[in-house]
Amino acid sequence: MIKQKIISKILALCMVTSLVNSINATSEMAEPVYVTALITSKASSKSIKLSWDSSQDSYVNCYYIMRRNTKESIGTGKWQTIAEIESDDTAGDSKNLYIDKLKSSVPQQYEYKICTLSKDKTIDTRNQKYEEETNKCAVLGTNIKICIDPGHYGSRNNNYNLKGGNGKYPYSEAKFTLKIGKALKKELKQTYGIDSYMTRTGNKISLKYKKKTYTNAKLDKSNIAIRGYMAKIKGCDFFISLHTNMAGRLKKPWNQPKSLNKVYVFVNSVALKSSRGMKIADYIGSELTAYNKAAGIQNARFVTRRKNKAANYANLINDISNGNGTVVHRRSSSGKDYYGVLRGVSEKGVKGIIVEHAFHDTQVMRRHANTSSDLYQNWGICDAEGIARGFGFINTSRF
Ligand SMILES: [Zn+2]
Repeated sequence: MIKQKIISKILALCMVTSLVNSINATSEMAEPVYVTALITSKASSKSIKLSWDSSQDSYVNCYYIMRRNTKESIGTGKWQTIAEIESDDTAGDSKNLYIDKLKSSVPQQYEYKICTLSKDKTIDTRNQKYEEETNKCAVLGTNIKICIDPGHYGSRNNNYNLKGGNGKYPYSEAKFTLKIGKALKKELKQTYGIDSYMTRTGNKISLKYKKKTYTNAKLDKSNIAIRGYMAKIKGCDFFISLHTNMAGRLKKPWNQPKSLNKVYVFVNSVALKSSRGMKIADYIGSELTAYNKAAGIQNARFVTRRKNKAANYANLINDISNGNGTVVHRRSSSGKDYYGVLRGVSEKGVKGIIVEHAFHDTQVMRRHANTSSDLYQNWGICDAEGIARGFGFINTSRF
């Protein structure tokens, strides 16, 4: 991995010197330089990191860091130059880096692009005639990071192998939640500029905690809280564990009707006491419900809740047909979060949820999951939108 360096020298006189030097410019005409691969990420709660490759450093005199607000809409605000950075003249060395220091840690979203002043100082791509081209290179950035936990591992909860199952519409919860997770990660970044960390990116899960490594079954049972700890360790503002539900007490669990389907969002005790945490849970549940209805998977409604007012969990409600989805807080007899993964998140003081997108023991859901990529793609989109709206970013509702 190439070590990154910080270019700290700011060229305050970029523009003034350009007038003088342009007189001595060679007869070779300079070309406008476009920075096409700008990457943004959360650096801290009060800063956003921008990095771009240095392959064009020898054609560039100085880079202009451009930023605009997304409060009203994305793609229309007025660009401002927030910094001018001298090129080090060396192409292909370490990445160029700029840290945008913010005034506060409230959730913030901006659009960024990098404009350039050519080596001979004759072409400044901030000029309006280059705007269409430089705008194509603009990306979103935020000071928010999400911990995505695709539930289980391997091929756990594999309905194809379910004893007595008819083998129709095979489904593995672990494999499907990984697909949702990847769709969610992509959507968060592309549509909202929100960073994320995933507890697993393949079938295997392996996490390090206090110098010990935990793998697969250990992270699906006794040490499952470690998945939750990752939210804090990786600097995340919110934790989301992705699942599909099952009505364990019913006969022929692989063959349930559509009427069983509903969306449950389980909040941890930190999210329960936070209006933002409850808003995210409400938004995700409402979005998923709207999508599931449109896709013909469920009829049930979603009942939204408020801060400190989540529903209590009961098997009876979970397994009932024609019940409604809602935001649930499930407690153990000790009063702590019932689910180990959410207990882990709570221990670290981070807001967290488990999302049960639908019931995988309904044939209608598994059929949908088997016939196209629509289901996990759209669930990822719904989850991302709920998160983004909860943090106050622009609403791009599609369902
Ligand atoms: Zn699960």
